[in-house]
Amino acid sequence: MLEDREKNSPMIVKYGASDATTRVVGVIGYPLTHSLSPVMHNAALSVAGVAMSYVPFVVMPENLETAINGLLALGVRGVNVTIPHKESVVPLLDELDKDAERIGAVNTIVVKGSRLLGYNTDAKGFGNAFAEEAGCLLAGRCVMLFGAGGAARAVLAELLKEGVRDLIVVVRVLERGRAMVKDLLIGYQDVKVAVCQFEALHADVQRPDVLINATSVGLFPHDPVLTPLGFVTSKMVVYDLIYNPPTTPLLDEAKRVGAVAINGLGMLVHQGALAFKIWTGENAPKDVMRESLLRALEGLKCSS
Ligand code: NAP
Repeated sequence: MLEDREKNSPMIVKYGASDATTRVVGVIGYPLTHSLSPVMHNAALSVAGVAMSYVPFVVMPENLETAINGLLALGVRGVNVTIPHKESVVPLLDELDKDAERIGAVNTIVVKGSRLLGYNTDAKGFGNAFAEEAGCLLAGRCVMLFGAGGAARAVLAELLKEGVRDLIVVVRVLERGRAMVKDLLIGYQDVKVAVCQFEALHADVQRPDVLINATSVGLFPHDPVLTPLGFVTSKMVVYDLIYNPPTTPLLDEAKRVGAVAINGLGMLVHQGALAFKIWTGENAPKDVMRESLLRALEGLKCSS
């Protein structure tokens, strides 16, 4: 009834960039100061002519359930979910898609009628970005993965799906790494997997073809390189999920030795493009998203 009345309304009042038909999408997390998702999505929504606006919702862990119920009450179309809610949001949703269920983490919610559906677009987002940027396939490769958090779980799920041959998972706490591998390895018995701690990375450890950092180490310029000196070689593809800052001590080391060095910007674009499609039903303008991010990062560099 309400929707009919709105459709038949004779006049739409404009409020700046939005009007009475504008739907809200956004991101919930804490902290959100580092997030460039609002810049990227608003650029895409505007160019695609979609009547939606993307806003950051700072949500503390103790308010998560209230915030999730509020999405329905406020008629929000959907949200991205980021640190620290990707796993804790799962039991608050009505349904998960199969990737989110397998990974045990959600980064995109869509409201359908009175139901909240959870997706994980980080996994495919990583896979699409790697395929586009790395110049090699993951199938048959030996891959070393740093971390056991939400992003690492998504990347691991995608690595298995893509057919990696050997996996070395490197973590701070062995139990966390082993639990992640146990959860995700079901159905992939042929893959050779080892889990070790960072302290065990020394010269005689097997060198991977692909080295992926899915920890938050590197967000700050004085963060250490997680590999010992001389570990990274020119034959590796080194992929760091961090995109802000655009380079990290690990990527600097990769560039120094002549390895392929890739940051997380492409993954941000691809996971965002998949979320955009879920909310709007339309293909995202990925070039616009990428350009808006590069402009925003350039602006941050100038102002720092
Ligand atoms: P998270 O769930 O908080 O996980 C962080 C991981 O980093 C955990 O495994 C943690 O170890 C590890 N870690 C933290 N400090 C460490 C240290 N000093 N030494 C070794 N390991 C350390 O976060 P997340 O969501 O997985 O995100 C991880 C990173 O990926 C963040 O930098 C995030 O910005 C980035 N990310 C990028 C994209 C993209 O689109 N490019 C998407 C998602 C995430 P414990 O397991 O021991 O706690």
